[in-house]
Amino acid sequence: MEPIRERRPQFWQVAKRCCQIAASVDVAFFFIFYFLGSPVLAWINVASVAMYAIAYRALGKRRNALAVSLIWAEVILHAGLGILMIGWESGFHYYLLMFIPALFVSVRLKLALLALVALWSYYIGLYLVMWLIEPLQPISREALLAVYLFNLTVVFSMFSYLSFFYLSMVTSANRKLRKLATTDPLTRLFNRRHMTHLAKKELSRYERNGHPLSFILLDIDHFKVINDRYGHEAGDYVLKEVARVIKEQLRTQDLIARWGGEEFLVILPETTIGRAEAGAERIRAGLLAHQWRTPGGELVELTISAGVSEFRPGDDLNAAINRADHALYRGKDNGRNRVEVETV
Ligand code: GH3
Ligand code: MG
Ligand code: MG
Repeated sequence: MEPIRERRPQFWQVAKRCCQIAASVDVAFFFIFYFLGSPVLAWINVASVAMYAIAYRALGKRRNALAVSLIWAEVILHAGLGILMIGWESGFHYYLLMFIPALFVSVRLKLALLALVALWSYYIGLYLVMWLIEPLQPISREALLAVYLFNLTVVFSMFSYLSFFYLSMVTSANRKLRKLATTDPLTRLFNRRHMTHLAKKELSRYERNGHPLSFILLDIDHFKVINDRYGHEAGDYVLKEVARVIKEQLRTQDLIARWGGEEFLVILPETTIGRAEAGAERIRAGLLAHQWRTPGGELVELTISAGVSEFRPGDDLNAAINRADHALYRGKDNGRNRVEVETV
């Protein structure tokens, strides 16, 4: 089965972006504290930038565990030191809260709960320490306000970015599941179950507006021979190609599914049986004109038979498909490589 293309950003890409943002914030802090006259705090930021640089490189080499440990260590130490130096009102503790959602999505629940208890204890511990002691290197009230507002803004932005990432993770997982549940892995056409669901929707549309609705059932002739002669893998390849060529002949509103092993069902909305027959004939001729080869380059003879039916008032889905099936088997009996229409 072909892999489903990944559209959402990968963890390491998001983590790299976070490292860039965090390192830029720390560079800003270096200058802020340097000019506020707190060289110790300023130099802590240099160490932080170095840690983010190493984490960034590690992510580039997909050494995610090392990178995540470095990021954790940096945030925990930096937040702790910032608060000890200039006080709880600096808002450095907010950075710790970003780990709460990150933990739930990245590690097993038990481990996440343990880490959360540790994080909570650290958070409360810091608060209690600052309740008992004065900041070690206090800065002016105005400077503290500026640092607080800056931290709040950064945390807000980072939370938004991470939430967006978590949302895209969930959306992408949903999309993948839906694709898996509705498509046939080999041909990428709708599977039988999903086609039945779509057909029922078409039937209720028919009940409402009475517009014609036709069905074509197609079955590859003597497909077993292709398998026997060239192998099952070549058979798979041919099946995939047949699906692609049939799909090319259809209009955007037509629905096509892999109905069975080497059998396809096409539903043609707004189409009378006459036009459906012409469509089936076009598909048959298209497949006949195509030069079929195995992946190894061997020429394969391939034809298809088709049965066509039209939905009638009072019909149900099975009845309409059965009539197409009977027509198809008449086509097989009459020598294959032909299109037959339902009889009254
Ligand atoms: P007919 O013209 O009467 O339809 O003959 P046929 O050989 O096509 O029909 P039959 O029902 O006897 O055999 C169908 C074959 O399709 C047998 C089965 O192994 C093959 N087949 C079904 N699904 C797959 C698949 O996914 N891959 C491959 N390679 N073969 C498949
Ligand atoms: Mg067949
Ligand atoms: Mg068959």
